[in-house]
Amino acid sequence: MSVLSSLTPALATIAQQIGHAVEIEFTRYLIGAAGVAVLYWLIQRWIEPRRIQAGKASFADRRREFRRSVETIFVFSLVNLLTFAMFRAGWLPVNRGAPDIGIMVAQIIAMVIMHDAWFYWMHRSLHLKVLFRRAHATHHVSRTPTSWAAYSFAPIEAIFESIYVPVMFLIISHIVPIQPWAAFIFLGHQIARNAVGHSGFELAWPGFTRSPLTGWLTTTTHHDLHHTEGRYNFGLYFTWWDRMMGTEHPKYHERFDAVAVRPEVVTNRVDLA
Ligand SMILES: [Zn+2]
Ligand SMILES: [Zn+2]
Repeated sequence: MSVLSSLTPALATIAQQIGHAVEIEFTRYLIGAAGVAVLYWLIQRWIEPRRIQAGKASFADRRREFRRSVETIFVFSLVNLLTFAMFRAGWLPVNRGAPDIGIMVAQIIAMVIMHDAWFYWMHRSLHLKVLFRRAHATHHVSRTPTSWAAYSFAPIEAIFESIYVPVMFLIISHIVPIQPWAAFIFLGHQIARNAVGHSGFELAWPGFTRSPLTGWLTTTTHHDLHHTEGRYNFGLYFTWWDRMMGTEHPKYHERFDAVAVRPEVVTNRVDLA
């Protein structure tokens, strides 16, 4: 009885913390996925020529992507609990004083580069026959993805997608204590790039993929090609790993140009007529 009565408040605290983590993750997902969906709907008249695929995702597709994403949020929240526990145990030193802009920027860059490397290799592993059906096929049901697919993962993939966070925080915080704003901005950047990458519309300007100034950044076409063909373009934020490992889609530039350059060609034709 005494064990039970001492367990009850502990369980209540854990339940409360899971609830809080779900709230944070759901808000982050909603701002990213719904934010992109609403914004693109508002400007659809202008961006319609930038639609990457000829086909459109159905309402059922969006509903499935949303449902799967909500399941993922629960898994992410459990991993968050682990991160919070590590913070409380003092394993993840945090800067509680005034923010240091230099360290903050350095930490954001480090987090983005580390996440990109983790994602590339984790993602390539998920495409191995032994893992694909169980862990990654759920995400690839979206052949014509929408921003709602940002978290559309099977539970096993959801664990792989989120477990890098506590590990990365552990590494970074032992070099220099984590700046809370660096973590906040990194997590905001992550969902924004994820939602845009699944949006189905290419809004980057012509020449983006070939320019030395911007070609190292992935585009929506980059990830959209991964959803239609699967064998190429495993990267997340940068094209580095795909180019280094020879996994960039051989027609990436042509496919990008077909969407990004076409509207100008069409407009010129209309102007000439
Ligand atoms: Zn995807
Ligand atoms: Zn994949």
